[in-house]
Amino acid sequence: MSRAAPGLARDLPWVGARDPWAVLVSEVMLQQTPAARVAGPWRAFLDLYPTPAALAAAPLSEVLTAWRGLGYHRRARDLQRAAVALVERHDGRVPESVEALRALAGVGEYTARAVAAFAFGARVAVVDTNVARVLARAVAGRPLAAREAREEAAALLGRRDPRRFNQAMIDLGAVFCAARPRCASCPLARVCAWRAAGGEDPAPASAHVTRRQAPFAGSDRQWRGRAIERLRHGPATAAEMHRHLAGLEPARRRRVLEGLVADGLVTKAREGFALAGAPRVAR
Ligand code: SF4
Repeated sequence: MSRAAPGLARDLPWVGARDPWAVLVSEVMLQQTPAARVAGPWRAFLDLYPTPAALAAAPLSEVLTAWRGLGYHRRARDLQRAAVALVERHDGRVPESVEALRALAGVGEYTARAVAAFAFGARVAVVDTNVARVLARAVAGRPLAAREAREEAAALLGRRDPRRFNQAMIDLGAVFCAARPRCASCPLARVCAWRAAGGEDPAPASAHVTRRQAPFAGSDRQWRGRAIERLRHGPATAAEMHRHLAGLEPARRRRVLEGLVADGLVTKAREGFALAGAPRVAR
């Protein structure tokens, strides 16, 4: 069961998933983590939290532990907030409309459209960084603003099957029309506007196209992950935490810890630090 065009489908476990909760979880994980690193945690997370109600009832500390390996931990917090909203406002189900999905914590335009299209088969086009490159290069041959890209994608979708169309566009961008395009083997090579016209690559100047991320090594993201990893093993005194982050100068160490507290991921008390989270909804 594949959502992709024949010959393009990548072997990713969420391709073909129809359970809206499983699709929502995969899309949130894929927001900032490469697909290859999401597969294992996605299955394990769904084993632990097979429904929004199960996630809503879990302590955040447990959820953060289940998020291991994915980084950007605010997504775990937001996904749990979304699960609480699903229990409280949607009878424990993921809603179908893009508007209702967008109202959930951590769900932006792309994620809402992806869930609507892939889980429910809604007639909406999704534009992620992969699709944005294909649209700018193959279709327009020029940089596209966000609204233009959505309009181009919607026009192409037309009456096609939304699941197959959207997955095929994503796979085209991921497999062939990557940051460094593989035009020689691309199935769109003969109709590609940019390949025909030449000139400067229109993708980097287009909306939705991911800019190069700052290096992970030595970043605050890396140190935040290190602090959370320590607290997955239990609370720590302030002195222990500062020793654990000893590679950082004291001011930055404090900034990392205070940032985690401000984000609601870690609690700070007189006795030290701990992962945040009592159950939000009674089991
Ligand atoms: S021919 Fe090259 S630039 Fe055009 S869509 Fe394919 S990979 Fe992208």
